[in-house]
Amino acid sequence: MDYPDRFDVIVIGGGHAGTEAALAAARMGSRTLLLTHNIETLGQMSCNPAIGGIGKSHLVKEIDALGGAMGLATDLGGIQFRVLNARKGPAVRATRAQADRVRYKAAIRGLLENQPNLTLFQQAAGDLIVDNDEVRGVVTETGIHFLGETVVLCTGTFLGGVIHIGLDSTRGGRAGDPPSNRLAERLRALPFRVDRLKTGTPPRLDARSLDFSQLEEQPGDTPTPVMSFMGNRAQHPRQVSCHIAHTNERTHEIIHANLDRSPMYSGMIEGVGPRYCPSIEDKVHRFADKTSHQVFIEPEGLDTHELYPNGISTSLPFDVQLQVVRSMRGLENAHITRPGYAIEYDFFDPRDLRHSLETKFIANLFFAGQINGTTGYEEAGAQGLLAGLNAARRAQGLDSWCPGRDEAYLGVLVDDLITLGTKEPYRMFTSRAEYRLLLREDNADLRLTEAGRELGLVDDARWAAFSEKREAIERESARLRASWVQPDSQAAACIAEKTGKAPAREYSLMDLLKRPELGYADVAGLPGIPGDPVDDESVAEQVQIQAKYQGYIDRQRDEIAKLKRHEATPLPVDLDYTRVDGLSHEIRQKLAEARPETLAQASRISGVTPAAVSILLIHLKKRR
Ligand code: FAD
Repeated sequence: MDYPDRFDVIVIGGGHAGTEAALAAARMGSRTLLLTHNIETLGQMSCNPAIGGIGKSHLVKEIDALGGAMGLATDLGGIQFRVLNARKGPAVRATRAQADRVRYKAAIRGLLENQPNLTLFQQAAGDLIVDNDEVRGVVTETGIHFLGETVVLCTGTFLGGVIHIGLDSTRGGRAGDPPSNRLAERLRALPFRVDRLKTGTPPRLDARSLDFSQLEEQPGDTPTPVMSFMGNRAQHPRQVSCHIAHTNERTHEIIHANLDRSPMYSGMIEGVGPRYCPSIEDKVHRFADKTSHQVFIEPEGLDTHELYPNGISTSLPFDVQLQVVRSMRGLENAHITRPGYAIEYDFFDPRDLRHSLETKFIANLFFAGQINGTTGYEEAGAQGLLAGLNAARRAQGLDSWCPGRDEAYLGVLVDDLITLGTKEPYRMFTSRAEYRLLLREDNADLRLTEAGRELGLVDDARWAAFSEKREAIERESARLRASWVQPDSQAAACIAEKTGKAPAREYSLMDLLKRPELGYADVAGLPGIPGDPVDDESVAEQVQIQAKYQGYIDRQRDEIAKLKRHEATPLPVDLDYTRVDGLSHEIRQKLAEARPETLAQASRISGVTPAAVSILLIHLKKRR
């Protein structure tokens, strides 16, 4: 049958990409349908119940700055929050939350069900309606035709999914869910380049069978960090600790002795796995000289005994999994509640996409998430939001939008995918961004919320809170610039007490804040200085970071401006990169292989840093 209503945007798949895509399109006023296998699994975390971490929290905060759901749901579902790299610079600091799987999912479902313009429908999509290389709608596996202006495909690991445990394999989208085989076949008949990837998950454990006295406890941070710019600590459920266990030589012996029973080593799995999140058999095989690996024992939720042992993802047979788990101290009597497994699935070469995530060959069809060769909820959510907003813009007859590499990690992610493609599951790292100091997690709202508001993604409440924060930062920075500490004043005595040295001349509070040994709390409320320090931690943090890093930030902005001026500068095809002084061996090799035609193209090759581009520019000037 033909469904009676037409939609502007039809999203297939209610995982992390699909939910952000559907919410974004609906927020922009488009009539949106989210068609998914099972409404009960909306927002389900297929693997680790954790959000954020290095590079990934930047994406979560960008999604949040653009009005998305992931950060909000994390604050409602997070049961342990930490800031990683807290002692390092703000560019690489990253918030990570352990989530209660059930609470996170409930939060996502609540947001979806309360979103105006959004219709949910439970059924598998089996076919696309394509006419003259343009998508017109979707047909479900029971034959319902949904017509729409645009379609966003967010089917994750489900296309042609095959689950492996030891030498046994079954078809599945993830444990307990069916694969999408009809849709996979249909897509394979379209002119996209398709390949296989794989990922894996560890066995889950029953907490009652572990001896926690033998494990190292890892509590969350106090005060508890918050994920969303609209979130607050009071929303967090009860907080709990994680624990750390270790593999040992016995564990590694068991794995070595059973490698021939691993589908990865027997050749059964063809897909390439995530290099940065390898299975335990991969780690033991590749790093043969290491006698121990850390295993983070993470709670799956507040109302369950299940634990997620992060670090032992495996596709070894169950009997070997049990031996591996029980070889670790504190886990000698561990009971496995669910075996670990690996999954192989189809992904599509993201070089067949535009910056909007629309496919090049079928108009109005967008791809987002794991289907594009990425791994991770955050990478999926960020792409979903972008594809959803661009599908809505297309339906509204507007041009597409995508942030640049100097504006957002989302820009880095999409640019990497569509220009370089990927041969292994792609995950985000801060090292992938050239302008890390500009793209911090703490300033994602300052970078993106205004654009989000113009795009129609940001509601009034977020816009009001953001505008107030931005004004407060400007007001407080202006106060610090205009307030002076005189030598021999009471304020100068306070500075002397903190630094061991009295200021010899007058300094503004802003000058003092630039000093490494002083923080906002040290200078903002000095006696005799007019005005009060701000209460809002996020405002104080911004004022401090902007003061301390202004010099570096200005330098990065100059580099971007310089690069933009020289973007079109041609690179001679016969350029001998071995003769360019100052380039590393690796960069020379990458440039020689890729033979970019312009400086802009060279700058987009992963690993080619802004400094290397400057060296190339100088070299070209010398050649003239
Ligand atoms: P998914 O979250 O997979 O969601 C896809 C959704 O689409 C599901 O709701 C599904 O029901 C629906 N769907 C599929 N086909 C259809 C259809 N035809 N019709 C209707 N609905 C459909 N990430 C990491 O970062 N680290 C890891 O270690 C890691 N390990 C993983 C291990 C396993 C076993 C699995 C399965 C995933 C793992 N991931 C890991 C990946 C992480 O789960 C994904 O990156 C993330 O969930 C991708 O989000 P997505 O929205 O693209 O797809």
